[in-house]
Amino acid sequence: MPRVVPPKRGFLALDEPVGRYPTVSTTLGTLSSFPPKLKGRGGKSRSEEMRTVRLRLLPSGAQERRLRKLADAAAKLWNGLNYARLIQFRASGKIDFKGTEHELYHKYKSVLGVNAGQVINLNNGAWMSYFKLKEMYEQGKLPRFYGKPSPPDFWRDRLLGRRKLVILVRNDRYYLEQVNGGEGYLVLKDWGLRVKYAGRIKWAGKQGMLTIKFEDDRWFAYVPITVGEKPARSNPKGYVKGIHERIRIENPKGGNKAFIDVGLNNLFVVVFNHTDTAMLIKGSTIKSEYYYWKREIKTYQSIRDWLKNHGFESWKKYHAFYLHAVFKRKERLRHYYRTAIRFLAKEIHKMGVDEVFVGYPYLVSQDDGNEYNTNIWWFNKIVNWLNDVLQEYGIKLNIVNEYGTSKQCSICDMKHENGRVKRGLYVCPVTGIKINADINAARNIAKRVGYETPMPRKILSYMVTTNGVKPLTPMEGVTIETPTVKPSPKKGREGVMLIDTSVLIEVLRGRITNVGDALNNLRNGGCQGFR
Ligand SMILES: [Zn+2]
Repeated sequence: MPRVVPPKRGFLALDEPVGRYPTVSTTLGTLSSFPPKLKGRGGKSRSEEMRTVRLRLLPSGAQERRLRKLADAAAKLWNGLNYARLIQFRASGKIDFKGTEHELYHKYKSVLGVNAGQVINLNNGAWMSYFKLKEMYEQGKLPRFYGKPSPPDFWRDRLLGRRKLVILVRNDRYYLEQVNGGEGYLVLKDWGLRVKYAGRIKWAGKQGMLTIKFEDDRWFAYVPITVGEKPARSNPKGYVKGIHERIRIENPKGGNKAFIDVGLNNLFVVVFNHTDTAMLIKGSTIKSEYYYWKREIKTYQSIRDWLKNHGFESWKKYHAFYLHAVFKRKERLRHYYRTAIRFLAKEIHKMGVDEVFVGYPYLVSQDDGNEYNTNIWWFNKIVNWLNDVLQEYGIKLNIVNEYGTSKQCSICDMKHENGRVKRGLYVCPVTGIKINADINAARNIAKRVGYETPMPRKILSYMVTTNGVKPLTPMEGVTIETPTVKPSPKKGREGVMLIDTSVLIEVLRGRITNVGDALNNLRNGGCQGFR
C-alpha cells in the first residue's frame, strides 16, 4: 500500500490533502486490502512484501472435469455458508460464525479436504469487512464514492444461476514443480492432480493460499508469494523459486520528487521539482480499447436482454459473448496499464526520484454510477500496480487528494472558474498563459504537498502501444536521461510558458477523432478519474 504522509487514519477523508486511499477490490486471487490493513508503526505492512503470480493452467480433459467438480463443491460451500449467514443477518443483524461454519465444514471436508476451511476463512473475512465498512458508512467515515456497502456476494452468475468456478488451496496443500523458466506442474496434494502450467515466475518466497479460477474458458492459478521469506520447516516445498528474492531491485538515484496526474487521455502526466522536463504518457490506445469493449458489452447486453424478454433461449449465447467482452476489456486494459506503469517507473527512477505523489481524483458528480465505479476501480488498480513497481526501485508513493486541482491555476495560484477551456488546455485569464490542463493538475498536486515545480519547457510525450511505450516527440539531444536542470522560477508569474505545439495538436486530435459523445459525457459527468 502507498505510504501515508503524514501518517493519519487508515482512510482518506475528503478534507485531508494527503493520505492513504481505500481499496475497493475484493477480486479473488489478487491481493485485496479487505479488511483495510492499518500499518504498524515503523514496520512494513505485510502486503508490501507480497506479490501474486498468475499462471495459466493447461489441464487434460480428465483433469479439467476434476477441477470443475472441485470448484463446484467450493462454490456450493461458499453459497451455502453465505446464505445461512445472510438469513441470520437479516433476522438479527448478527452472525453466529462458528455455528454456521461447523456443519458445512464437515459436509465438504470429504470432497475438498482441509481446503474447505479456506473457503470458510475467506467468507469470514468478507463478512468482517462488510461489518467494518457498514460501521464506517453509518458513521459517515466512508468516502462518498463507496456508496452503501453490501453483504458478500454469492459465487454464481446472476443470470444463468451457474456457480462461479473457484478453488482455494491451503498454502501447504500444493506445490509448484518448475520445469524451466516458463512452465512446469502444479501439484495439488489432496486430489492427486499434477496440472501443467505456463507462465514466468518473477518472485521467490513463501507461498500463500492458492486460488484457481476459471475465467473466460481458461483456468488460471494465482499464487501469492511473500517475497524472500523462507517456508515453514513443516512445509519445505512451500517455497516458490522465482527470479527475485527481494522486491527492491534498485535504489533511488537521487532525492527528487515527481508529481503525477492520472487520466484517460493522458494516462500519466508527470512534473518534477528539480527539472522543467515533464512527461506525458498518452492513453489513446487504452481509451479506444476501452470504448470498443464498452460498445461490445452494451450491444451484447441489449441483444441478450431483448432475447430473454421475448422468451428466446439463445439469450444464453449472447450472455456468453457479453461475459467474454467484459473479460477482454479487463485483460486488454490490464496489459496496457501495466506496460505504461513499468515504463513510467523506469523513467522516474532514471530521473533520480525517490518519492512520488499521485493525485487522487476527486469526483464531482455521479451521473453514471457504473462508469464512475469502473473508473474508481481502475484508478485503485493502477495506483496499486504503480506502488508495486515503484517499490522495486525503492521509490515511495503517496496519494494526494486532488480536490479542486482542475480549476486551480498553477501559474498564478488563483482559482479560475473558467480556467479550464477547450478540454486539455488550461488558460489563465490573469496572465494569459496557456498550459496543458493535466500538467496544470500535476503542478497543483505538487503545490498541495508544499513543492514548487518549474514551469515545464520540455514535454516528453509517449504513447502506449501493444508492443510497449514509444516516444511521440523525439527531440534532438534531449533524452529523459539527460534532463536539463534549471533553477525553479520564483513564485509568481515569471515563468514564460513554451508549449510544445505538436503535443497540443496530439491532445486535441485525440479528443476529436476517437472520442465522440461518450467521452463528452464522461468528462462532463465529472469523472475526473479518466480525463
Ligand atoms: Zn491564473
